[in-house]
Amino acid sequence: MQRLTNSSITCFAVCQRKYGWRYERHIQPVTYEEGDALRNGISFHHGIEIAQNEGIEFAAAAVRQSWAEKPALGDDIRRNEQEVAKVCAMIRAAVARWSDKLKLTECSFEIPLVNPETGGKSRSFMYAGKWDGVAGSRLVDWKTTADPDKFILEKRLGYQFAGYAAGLGAQGLPIHLAEYRLVTRPTIRLKDANRSRKVNQTPDEYEAECLAWLDADPGRLREEIVYLHPGAINGWRWWAWEASKAILEARRYNRWTRNIHACNAWRRECEYLPLCLAEAQGEDPEQLIAERYEVTEPHPELSKE
Ligand code: SF4
Repeated sequence: MQRLTNSSITCFAVCQRKYGWRYERHIQPVTYEEGDALRNGISFHHGIEIAQNEGIEFAAAAVRQSWAEKPALGDDIRRNEQEVAKVCAMIRAAVARWSDKLKLTECSFEIPLVNPETGGKSRSFMYAGKWDGVAGSRLVDWKTTADPDKFILEKRLGYQFAGYAAGLGAQGLPIHLAEYRLVTRPTIRLKDANRSRKVNQTPDEYEAECLAWLDADPGRLREEIVYLHPGAINGWRWWAWEASKAILEARRYNRWTRNIHACNAWRRECEYLPLCLAEAQGEDPEQLIAERYEVTEPHPELSKE
């Protein structure tokens, strides 16, 4: 029985071919570099967890250490210094803003995927998920974002929250609302020496500037509550069930349709572009796969510590 998750279904909805590479073939590029925004977000999450348990200075040290593990060259050295300082500032601001809050626990689930019309269970898929912050009947999530309004709109329209409420509810954990703690990524940059500035700005100076930037507008750190309305779980059931049927259909014919509008989403080139280009030109991508890709765990988010 295979697992479907919010991420894998979303991937299928965005580009079936991408789903085919990642969740059917289980391949990823050997040298896969996350973009700054994604790396920044992962680093922030990791830091918040440490800050909650061990304190802010441990969190800052862990962030620096994780970025140091991928040493940079040339211009990337300054860029990395900027990103590390930015993440540390966001963690400091978030901990100060939400210092009074709830002890959070981690919860995961795996539930049958059920046909909403007949109640019959899928013989091919389970639905699985893991949430880092559960407190009572609320899901708590920390997010860094460039655009908080867009983020919240997507959360209100999407099915993730309802699916998690269904999964955790099945385990006897009734969930009524999601609380999103949003930290806007500072748009200011680490300054280099120039005509009006004799020396480079230091990372510490830049971190202090980011903290002041976050502090300057209350909207840059905000809390949004999304309530679970009565029809939400049924909406999620249809979404997940319809997706599972479409995946089975694509699998049956081994036909994973490309979506060319997703190849440069979020200003990043899709990691499977070389393979899709080869296929589109009638070439066999297997040699490229052998040289540049490796088989990986398709759902690392479910197994991470
Ligand atoms: S390169 Fe484009 S078509 Fe191919 S998997 Fe990525 S998003 Fe889909």
